[in-house]
Parts: sequence; structure tokens; C-alpha cells
Amino acid sequence: MNNILYAAHECDIAIIGGGLAGLSSALTVAVNSNASVILVDGAIGSNRSLPLTFSDTIQQFGLEGSILERYHGFALRTRNDNYSLHMYDDTPLVSLDYSAASRQLYTRLQEYPTFTQLSAQAVRLDRIPTGWRICLQNKSIVTSNLLIDASGRAHFTARQLGHPTPPMYSHCYGRIFSNCHAPVGEESVALFLAGNPRHGNGGGWFYPLGGQRASFGFARLTNSSQFPAKECQQGFEYALQDFSPYAEILQDAIPEDIHVGSIPIGPVKRLVYDGLMLVGDAAGQATPWACMGAEPALVNGQLCGRVAVRTFREQDFSRSRLLDYERMWKTRNGRGFRQAVMLADLEWQRGEAVWDYSVNKFDQMSGSEMLHFLRHNTPHFSLPLIWWLLVYDRLGLIRRSLRDRLNRSLISMKLKLGDS
Ligand SMILES: Cc1cc2nc3c(=O)[nH]c(=O)nc-3n(C[C@H](O)[C@H](O)[C@H](O)COP(=O)(O)OP(=O)(O)OC[C@H]3O[C@@H](n4cnc5c(N)ncnc54)[C@H](O)[C@@H]3O)c2cc1C
Repeated sequence: MNNILYAAHECDIAIIGGGLAGLSSALTVAVNSNASVILVDGAIGSNRSLPLTFSDTIQQFGLEGSILERYHGFALRTRNDNYSLHMYDDTPLVSLDYSAASRQLYTRLQEYPTFTQLSAQAVRLDRIPTGWRICLQNKSIVTSNLLIDASGRAHFTARQLGHPTPPMYSHCYGRIFSNCHAPVGEESVALFLAGNPRHGNGGGWFYPLGGQRASFGFARLTNSSQFPAKECQQGFEYALQDFSPYAEILQDAIPEDIHVGSIPIGPVKRLVYDGLMLVGDAAGQATPWACMGAEPALVNGQLCGRVAVRTFREQDFSRSRLLDYERMWKTRNGRGFRQAVMLADLEWQRGEAVWDYSVNKFDQMSGSEMLHFLRHNTPHFSLPLIWWLLVYDRLGLIRRSLRDRLNRSLISMKLKLGDS
């Protein structure tokens, strides 16, 4: 009985994952071709994120209906109360109801007869001569010529096929609060909070959500996809006690929902293989400094969908044809991401003094420069400068470890002399 297969589905393009990346890819294919598409996901838009993102992109994708709050300002604040503030005439940043945005895209997709959604988890993947054979948890089977992996941090195909996963993860832990009053003048400002060892080296956030609600939390950066639940929760609790002024503001606020999860950052080396494309968090496409993945999921989903349509028309799903997608992504993002990966350890371990200095530098940027920086994670450094920074950092580590060893041996010598 257990071995019975319930249904076999055939399609041109299968998509694993119904987050913004998978839905954006599916919609692009549905609008621009008659390719049959099957999207596999147990829970559309299940990512427990409430992303801060860019209003022009949300408008471009027709998702204004899922905006929670619009921001006239963006600020970066350190624990020592240094901060950079940029105010705008319009509202370039918004917080998004992720599930609602996903449902909006899904509703549009349902108008296309070429689109099917299967509510199940994909559990196994096999290469077959015509493409792929995907086994689902409900024992159905999907076969397709082309597969788009938009499974987010689950990295379905990487785990099934033994491909590399992204090198770093930002593990976020926060809460939505009600009965919360943003400081006067900050009601419409989205804030990034600088990282520190006590609260989280990945930094934090405070986004007013309107109606006296706000989202507050911190993140930890690690090389592992394992969510460090204890450390994240503890860092958040500490921040709630002493990251001023938000600790005081949230003192009497009422905790509602948890805002938690991991964002893969730093792209995988290959975005395409024969018959396979990776997009969104599955490909580590969230920006490497600000860890913003909603816009990349939508935009790269569209890019991936366009290349999928072209290869469907040509009936050529080889890696060499799919490479157009990887090349386009690299042209737009390759340099900044490469540098970020090289400098990641330095970036995420920077001390508070460096944050205070950086915030002062950010304050000197114009509003549009700040937005550009937030979106593209510029500036770009030259390779010699990156090597110089890395060597300088390494020398600092060596110097500190020698000094510590010397101190330890001096102390033990003193103790021995004392004993004798
Ligand atoms: C707590 C938190 C805060 C964040 N804050 C921000 C922010 O402020 N700004 C910003 O821009 N971004 C933010 N992000 C990141 C952003 O949400 C993601 O980068 C973005 O949602 C990625 O979209 P995606 O479609 O690639 O992945 P996801 O939205 O994760 O979608 C993946 C989908 O794949 C499905 N799936 C996984 N495995 C399988 C399987 N085996 N079979 C079938 N389906 C499967 C899942 O159910 C899920 O629906 C945040 C993320 C988190 C977790």
C-alpha cells in the first residue's frame, strides 16, 4: 500500500518553491509563453519575513496592495547613539506583507490554464533522459524538461544533487509589537541597527508598521545554515533590555508575532546546470551587506523566467543555453557580491568603533546615494585594496594573539616566581 504512486504529472517547466522568486518566475513564463508550468510548494509564501524593500519594485510588480507601511526616511544607528539619517520627499522604502504579496502573485497565476500548483513538498529528485523526475511527499511524481529551484533556504536541488550551498547566513530573530510608539520624528523612518557582539553581529532593525505596531529584532551571521536559536533569542532579549531608545519604547509594548528565519547570503558559484536554474534564496541572491532578498527574488525570478521562455521556444535546456541567465545576473551583481564574500569576515566582525565611524561616513552621503548603496551594496573596492584590508586584518589578528600569548606566559611566570 505504501508503494502506491498517486499521480504522475508532466510539464515543460517545474518550479520548486512558491515564495516571491518561484512565483515571479512562474508568472513570467505564464505571461510570455504557452509552456506548461507546475509549481510545487506545500505552503505558498510561507517565509516568515516581513521585508523592508523598495517601493518602485513593489509598484513594478503590482504588489502595492501588500504594503504594510511606507517610509519617508532611512536611518542607521549604533549602540553609542551615533546615527545617519536620510529623509525623502517620497516614500522609497516600504515594509511588505510577504504572504499577502505571494498570494497576490498566485491569484494572478491561476488565470493561466498552463499553470498548475501542487500542494506538497518535493522529497526526491532524479535525472532522466528527458529532464527531471521529482517525487513529492504525497507520492505523486512530476516530470519536466526544465527545473527551476526556488526552494529558498531549503536548497532542495543542492541537497539532492550535492551542489554547493551559499557560504553565509543571516539568522534573524525579532518580534512584532503592538501598543508601541516610535520616537517623535521617527514614525516614518525605517532603521537598521549596527551589529555588536551582545545583540548580534548581523545588526538589527526597527520598522514602525503603523497603528502603533512595530517590528524589532537582531540577526547573527554565521557560515552555517543551522539556525542558532538560543544565541539569536538571547541576543534579541538583551537588545530588548538595552538597545536605547528602542528598549524604553518597547517596555510597555505587547509582543504579537515572531519574525524569524535565515537568509542565505553570498551567491552559489553556479546559477545554472543542464536543465536546472537556481533563483532567489536558493541561489543566495539576497544582498550581501543589507541582507535584503525580497527585491532580488522578484527581479531575478523575472530574469530566470525570461531565459526559461527562450529555452522552451528553442527546446534547448542545456547549461550553455541557460547560461544567459547566469551571465545577466553576474553583469548586474557579480563584482559587488564577489567583494562582499571576500570581505565577509571583516565586515561582520567589525567592532563598534568601526560602526560609529562608518555611520558618520554614511551620514555624508546624499539620500539617493544611500538608497543606491542599500540596493546594490556598493562601493566597489579594487582587488589590491581588498587584499591590503585582508592582510592588515590578518596581521592584526596575529599581533593580538601574540600579545595574548605573551601576557599569559608573563602571568604564569609571575605565579611561578610567587610560588617559589
Ligand atoms: C526573518 C526574516 C527577515 C527578513 N527581512 C528582510 C528584509 O527586511 N528585506 C528583504 O528584502 N528581505 C528580507 N528577508 C529575506 C527575504 O524574505 C527572502 O530573501 C526572500 O523571501 C526570498 O524569496 P524566495 O522565494 O527565494 O524564498 P522563500 O520565500 O523562502 O520561498 C521558498 C519556498 O520554497 C518552499 N520549499 C522549500 N523546500 C521545498 C520543497 N522541498 N518542496 C516544495 N517547496 C519547498 C517553501 O515552502 C517556500 O515557500 C528576510 C527573511 C527573513 C526570514
